[in-house]
Amino acid sequence: MNSKVRYHQRRLADVAAALRQARTQISREQGPRAQLAQHQQQRLETVVRHAATHSPFYRRYFAQTGALGAAPVELARLPVLDKSLLMEHFDELVCDPRLRRHQLLDRVSQMTRDQLYLDRYRVMLTSGSSGRPGLFVYDPVGWRSIGAQFVRSSSWAGLRPSLPRQRMAWLGGAAPSHLTRQGAATMAIGLHRVLALPVTLPLPQLVEALNQFQPTYLNLYPSAAMWLADEQQAGRLRLAPQILVTVAELRTPAMTQRLQDAFGVRPFDVYGCTEGLFGSECQHHQGIHLFEDTTLVENVDSDGQPVPAGQPGARLLVTNLYNRVQPLLRLEVTDLVTLDPDPCPCGRTLVRVSTIHGRSDDVLSLAARDGGRVAVHPLHFGLLTRDPQVREFQVVQNGPVLRVLVVPRQAAAAANNELETRLGQAVAQQLLGLGVQDPQVTVERREQLPRSAGGKLKLVIADPTSRPVHTNAS
Ligand SMILES: [Zn+2]
Repeated sequence: MNSKVRYHQRRLADVAAALRQARTQISREQGPRAQLAQHQQQRLETVVRHAATHSPFYRRYFAQTGALGAAPVELARLPVLDKSLLMEHFDELVCDPRLRRHQLLDRVSQMTRDQLYLDRYRVMLTSGSSGRPGLFVYDPVGWRSIGAQFVRSSSWAGLRPSLPRQRMAWLGGAAPSHLTRQGAATMAIGLHRVLALPVTLPLPQLVEALNQFQPTYLNLYPSAAMWLADEQQAGRLRLAPQILVTVAELRTPAMTQRLQDAFGVRPFDVYGCTEGLFGSECQHHQGIHLFEDTTLVENVDSDGQPVPAGQPGARLLVTNLYNRVQPLLRLEVTDLVTLDPDPCPCGRTLVRVSTIHGRSDDVLSLAARDGGRVAVHPLHFGLLTRDPQVREFQVVQNGPVLRVLVVPRQAAAAANNELETRLGQAVAQQLLGLGVQDPQVTVERREQLPRSAGGKLKLVIADPTSRPVHTNAS
């Protein structure tokens, strides 16, 4: 059988399996927490014992520490894994000795289309907002689980395989190795019509391609959604999506409102990371339910201690229950979130994230009036998205000075500095309110803002020399 036929058959099998898995997962979403805990423990036992047998890294760890006896596996006794450890020990951490970090990195950089490695593996590279890249590998079973999470979140948003077929447009990472691109390629098997566009295309081209395709389902980053909202309101873009899904970047309430005004539908916020944690808003739009039946989540403080629901954590520890080729146990993800202690009116018992405050690498540390330091989270700059003349912005820290780079909407004439003055005052006021001493803010106009290799917009770029030293487990 030639490889093209095999590739196509693999995709068909992947989607069929993902649909089945998603149905099973959805059927138990409203079950009691005790049932969920039992399911999680069973899966944890399986992945940890698998790692202890097949991963040289974990085999050595368990042999040295004796942490894995006959007793039930205790998550809290497993070591914490961070990105640098993951990359440093990549070759001995994976369960297939043919997988070598340097070969995979070479391969990823040369990928021009959706390709499997060794006819089997999906390889993904994350740019890492902290500048530390992450290399992730999924085998066919793991990849189908990712597919199931996609099917699940889109079914929450109302997407059903239907006739006529849905027309799905994905605006995602520019690189073929990006999760969104590989996900779109997997789904493009006839169930739905799929258009995957790199977010780095010039805006007029995006507009033209979307006008022609007329998606019923649109999945994109919030910052890209904001450009499209402007284009839609200006009449150049003419879309009538039934489902709008935003992923991967912060979306402020003002942005949600603007999207709803432009497209006439309430956007769903979906969380997903290549590490394996996924989640989605339900129909109540009151926070993101995490799919903790497939990935365990611990919300911890800067010392790695558990944070109670209702309080913000310093990072997440993510334990992927379905990646059997690259065990990801208690892997640090630098998202700052607050979990919601209350049950959701939808009846699902999966925990909800009430607020995503940004990534810990994007938190600014500024001198406080009282002599200490103030942590300023990316969400604190959300006020900029409330200004009707701001299309997008980025805050760049240079020591004590914050440079606010702003792409104005076309309506904002550059005739005077009214916009700069207004925004500068608003940000300074916000910082004063947070206790910052003598905020120094400059506002500069830009035609466009630089994006990461994955096409994402970083709202805040912290000055590493102004960052306090973090206590880190590694
Ligand atoms: Zn809900």
